[in-house]
Amino acid sequence: MSVITGAWRRTAAGAGLLSPDGAVAPTIFAEMSALAASTGAINLGQGFPDEDGPAEVLEAARQAIADGVNQYPPGRGTADLRLAIAEHQKRFYGLDVDPDTEVLVTVGATEALTATLLALIDGPEDEVVVFEPYYDSYAAAVSLAGGTLRTVPLRVPDFQPDLDRLADAVTDRTRIILVNDPHNPTGTVFGADVLTEIVRLAERHDALIVTDEVYEHLAFRARHIPVATLPGAAERTLTISSAGKTFSATGWKVGWIHGPAALITAVLTVKQFLTYVGAAPFQPAVAVGLRLGDAFFADAAATLAHKHDVLGAGLQAAGFTVFAPQGGYFTLADATAVGGADGAEFCRTLPERFGVGAIPLAAFLPPAHRADPEYAGIVRFAACKKVSVIDEAVSRLARLRD
Ligand SMILES: *Cc1c(COP(=O)(O)O)cnc(C)c1O
Repeated sequence: MSVITGAWRRTAAGAGLLSPDGAVAPTIFAEMSALAASTGAINLGQGFPDEDGPAEVLEAARQAIADGVNQYPPGRGTADLRLAIAEHQKRFYGLDVDPDTEVLVTVGATEALTATLLALIDGPEDEVVVFEPYYDSYAAAVSLAGGTLRTVPLRVPDFQPDLDRLADAVTDRTRIILVNDPHNPTGTVFGADVLTEIVRLAERHDALIVTDEVYEHLAFRARHIPVATLPGAAERTLTISSAGKTFSATGWKVGWIHGPAALITAVLTVKQFLTYVGAAPFQPAVAVGLRLGDAFFADAAATLAHKHDVLGAGLQAAGFTVFAPQGGYFTLADATAVGGADGAEFCRTLPERFGVGAIPLAAFLPPAHRADPEYAGIVRFAACKKVSVIDEAVSRLARLRD
């Protein structure tokens, strides 16, 4: 008998989130991390850094705990963090954001996204346009909200969407165009032409834009343009980000969302019953991080770009076809030439055979598209690791050539 029931079961089954016996399928990330751990492999699967972020930020969290910042913070987040978020949006992007009514602090970008979809999707008649491959929580959250997922493919080699396909996908049924830029897993950074088209279509069909910009400071071979900065966009855009990636603190789970006050209030009505509030002592620490000097942010992107270069060169040398990313934590590589035409199977055996863990691109596709020949051999490697660790991983993978 299935243990999962109700609307979640019906919709999650369609999204491939349930195992055949009806239990919640373990995410591929958990499965691959467990495999990497049990074989002692270097885990380039799940995207978490192996070094701590800025010392001032870590110290601010310790200080906050020592100072007794250990009880429920305000529902929208501490006033000073909301101010720091508004200041950050002004400083980097010239956006005017009211910290009192237009900002909500959440438990990571994940909660911001899920609460937004739960708040703004009424039922299956509401469509959410998503670029595919997509971050795995998107399909799950659309399912939870009872909405209908419509996808626009991002294709090799540059993973920019085809604007005609995009225009076909957005209709009067579209409630939300969900953007992730810089993009996980492809590492693409959307061009101004793509973003302009997204805004034009949203205006024409009266859709909202929800944008996940957790890699906003980690674009390196292209400039990241927040959708909300485009003419006409701010009034219909909810912008989501998080401290996790920027400050190498993925376990803190401090995220935020900003946009028009009425929409933020709608998201708050859901958020307050998901988690109510989160992470009191980390909120002042994240405010410290957002106010760090420009050098910190520039260094973070440059350091990550260097890691991608080392990883990409090593994968290329090992026989992979590498798709050099423009931003984010991940490099995609096609493993077909090294015996990985089935990327999922390749990733299942890689830890045992070569002592390295990776994630198949299939994890970011709906079940119906996982065997698509264009995608089947592609695997994702995390570059957010020490250079010495990446060096060791690629030297192990070099044996694939033997
Ligand atoms: C890591 C990641 C998230 C999750 O962010 P949290 O702040 O940890 O919830 C959301 N979206 C994308 C694209 C990510 O890569």
